Amino acid sequence: MSKDNCIFCKIAKGEIPSATIYEDSHFRVMMDINPATKGHCLIIPREHFDNIYDLDGETAGKIFSLATCIARALKDALGCEGMNIVQNNGEIAGQTVMHFHLHLIPRYKDDEVKVGWVPHASDEKELEELRRAIKAAI
Ligand code: AMP
Ligand code: ZN
Repeated sequence: MSKDNCIFCKIAKGEIPSATIYEDSHFRVMMDINPATKGHCLIIPREHFDNIYDLDGETAGKIFSLATCIARALKDALGCEGMNIVQNNGEIAGQTVMHFHLHLIPRYKDDEVKVGWVPHASDEKELEELRRAIKAAI
């Protein structure tokens, strides 16, 4: 989706209404319209980035700094027992809106949310090859 037709760009600019809980010159924080749990929020940068590969380090730092503040507010306001921070990149990873965003999902006992994966046994040789390849790419 082009950024001209991006729903989160329109929400960020205020062209489409949203249940906003915080905004500043860089970000809007809003309630997710189809929440996983009570209080599920999204942090969206006003500037369009498709995903984490596009994001610059300064914006990334500001987003996570803001996430600490919103997470504490959710905990204080809702008394949740835990919190998942989720950020999907690419359709295969579950990204449905191609404008970078961070999910804050408060967790409660018996909330039936599934965030996770099946752990696999690792192969020592393969792990070392992967470690080298990734290290070299940094
Ligand atoms: P993702 O699957 O990581 O791309 O997450 C997209 C999220 O955006 C989903 O949790 C949707 O429920 C949420 N969403 C989509 N449209 C809106 C909207 N207009 N206002 C608030 N949340 C939205
Ligand atoms: Zn956008």
